[in-house]
Amino acid sequence: MKCCICKKEITPEPNGWDGGHNPDPYPHEDGEACCTRCNFSVVLPLRMTQIKSENVSRIADVLKDK
Ligand SMILES: [Zn+2]
Repeated sequence: MKCCICKKEITPEPNGWDGGHNPDPYPHEDGEACCTRCNFSVVLPLRMTQIKSENVSRIADVLKDK
């Protein structure tokens, strides 16, 4: 299986798992996966950003009500 981000072959984990990682929220087709390197360098930072922006809009909503 190839990584849907860098298009390189996904190398098996030390535990034998070679299915890669869930690339959400990176845009991808069903069944695609990303490699460990992209998971840490692209996907996790994206998730952090999403969580942060959700918090920002939630905080903004709270402030609007007051
Ligand atoms: Zn990759």
